[in-house]
Amino acid sequence: MSESLPIGTDQDWYCDNCGVPLAPGQITVSYLGNAYPVNLLRCPNCGLVLVTEELALGKMSEVEKALEDK
Ligand SMILES: [Zn+2]
Repeated sequence: MSESLPIGTDQDWYCDNCGVPLAPGQITVSYLGNAYPVNLLRCPNCGLVLVTEELALGKMSEVEKALEDK
């Protein structure tokens, strides 16, 4: 039996396509017509970006807060 690891922890992530470890990098995310720099994990080989649901929701709520404050 294999233990299931919780999503979004410090575990290493690998690209589904290439099998290489994903590396942290700054990605520009467009949201409601605005672009925001976000640090995400991406594949250095094919450019695939990993966005976990937890991370996406967290970042989007931050962006929404920033918009509401304006
Ligand atoms: Zn890849």
